[in-house]
Amino acid sequence: MKNHKKTIYLSPPHLNGQEIKFITDAIDSNWIAPLGPDVDQFENEMAKFIDIDYAAALSSGTAALHLALKIIGVKSGDYVFCSDLTFIATVNAIKYLDANPIFVDSEESTWNMCPKSLDMAFKKFSPKAVIVTDLYGQSADYNTISEICKNYNTPIIEDAAESLGAEYNNRKCGSFGEISILSFNGNKIITTSGGGMLLTDNEAYIIEAKKLASQSREQAIHYEHAQIGYNYRMSNILAALGRAQLKSLSSYVEKRRKIFNYYYDHLNNINEISFMPEIKNGKSSRWLSVILLKNKTHDKINEIIKVFEREGIETRPIWKPMHLQPIYFDTPFYHNKINPLSKDLFDRGLCLPSGSSLTNDDLDKIIDILCKEINEDY
Ligand SMILES: *Cc1c(COP(=O)(O)O)cnc(C)c1O
Repeated sequence: MKNHKKTIYLSPPHLNGQEIKFITDAIDSNWIAPLGPDVDQFENEMAKFIDIDYAAALSSGTAALHLALKIIGVKSGDYVFCSDLTFIATVNAIKYLDANPIFVDSEESTWNMCPKSLDMAFKKFSPKAVIVTDLYGQSADYNTISEICKNYNTPIIEDAAESLGAEYNNRKCGSFGEISILSFNGNKIITTSGGGMLLTDNEAYIIEAKKLASQSREQAIHYEHAQIGYNYRMSNILAALGRAQLKSLSSYVEKRRKIFNYYYDHLNNINEISFMPEIKNGKSSRWLSVILLKNKTHDKINEIIKVFEREGIETRPIWKPMHLQPIYFDTPFYHNKINPLSKDLFDRGLCLPSGSSLTNDDLDKIIDILCKEINEDY
């Protein structure tokens, strides 16, 4: 950065002051390993928060997705449906198993997987699993999606990496899949710097997950291996960090919702701007506050992002849809609307700074710049 003003990041880590005590306790106990009491307790505390039976703390959300697919039984050549509008990690996990992704468009009311498009995909393919991403802190419409997947006897893997703390029908995100996953990457709502978790009510699945994540060691005194394994467990030190962060999760969700409302209150009267909707009977964590600019092109979005950058403020376009990614040009993509919604959202969407440590002064500055940029065109 050229200027010496403080940078306002999109979603930086927010430490609550308890981390150092938790980490010091872990170090004092000498549990400096990818197992230990903090890993067990982090799993138990998170499972309790989500209201699910079992959890396995892992090295990343991507690792959790990889194991989830493997445990469901996805093999080379199988099909897996997934949200078109997601972060690339969702699809990478499918490719790790040499399986074939098939993309499903978003719906207007949630921006998450469109049930009608999902149904179209099911009429053509028989997938082994459906990965549903809860975008930007918003639950997908699991009432409808679960019903469809049940009809086709296909398990759901919930990618709740962005939606920890969100709710739908009074249930927490991370509880809607046969297996669900979380991420504690540095930009997520709580962080272990890097880390993830696999969640399930199925005891056999969690035993398998923990085994696969520890090089698939069989129960024996010596090192016995009957299948390929991975080194995917979370370090005990990072789990201690996660436990400290978890104490602030509910207040961080409330803060992010307040930030969204602040943007909404100050920008909603501008005709050009609309906001990401909130699912009926749900409560978004508003991991990111996302707006749409009604009559803008993607070039204009990029221009606005550069203006913010010059002011030391990090903003970002909406995820570029998977069907537009160069490596996936030939991949089947199902959309109920003639013009895919995911592309429209990408073209006109802007993610605003949303970290729970933002101040009102920060927000006022962001709002000022945005208004100036938009009014210039009138
Ligand atoms: C962050 C994220 C992941 C991956 O998590 P990592 O912990 O960074 O591996 C997966 N899916 C989505 C939708 C994400 O946003």
